[in-house]
Amino acid sequence: MVQLPLPAHISEKAVLESILPCKDVDGFHPINAGALATGEKGFVPGTPAGVIELLKRSGIEMEGKECVIVGRSNIVGKPMAQLMLAENATVTVAHSKTQNLQEVCKRADILIVAAGKKKLITKEFVKPGATVIDVGIHRDENNKLCGDVDFDDVVSAAGAITPVPGGVGPMTIAMLMLNCLESKKMLQK
Ligand code: NAD
Repeated sequence: MVQLPLPAHISEKAVLESILPCKDVDGFHPINAGALATGEKGFVPGTPAGVIELLKRSGIEMEGKECVIVGRSNIVGKPMAQLMLAENATVTVAHSKTQNLQEVCKRADILIVAAGKKKLITKEFVKPGATVIDVGIHRDENNKLCGDVDFDDVVSAAGAITPVPGGVGPMTIAMLMLNCLESKKMLQK
């Protein structure tokens, strides 16, 4: 596994592409990213895979729902969008150049936030009763862990919300372990 980000003088692309796709348990190799985009079998990055598992196990319906994803990184936002499409959600991807972010987010039945901006999302961004998934991890002014969502502000508006810590993070690790197991099984065949 490659711990990103790499120092600036090392090519992330060259390093990621040097990993055998069948050992690419992070799902960052273009072969696995392509498999996800085309609906083929392959390794899916742990964080978005963990979000899907979390939604399924919490009984949150995805089919036909409006899903807004804030963030378009290769690690979270883009694969998250592919996975939500595969679950038949109607998907919007917002990013740093999106205009009227608040208005866009307010459409969401399921709002997934991976912007890397501390407490970006307040209750004004959330449709009452929406499911809010917070991928961000930061330290607040008191050195406490917090997310991209202002949990205390949003909790009363949301129908369901993931905490930070103890929400998406442990799911990421669980899905990574699952990928490791799958990789080992594939290599034994
Ligand atoms: P990134 O910096 O690569 O991407 C952030 C994305 O958010 C970009 O596409 C950018 O366009 C968008 N963005 C930035 N500011 C915005 C704004 N003001 N409005 C709308 N969009 C904005 O980050 P990443 O690797 O995708 O990670 C996002 C966050 O999730 C970080 O806080 C990271 O630490 C966290 N993270 C958590 C886990 C986990 O397991 N919980 C895993 C990966 C990343």
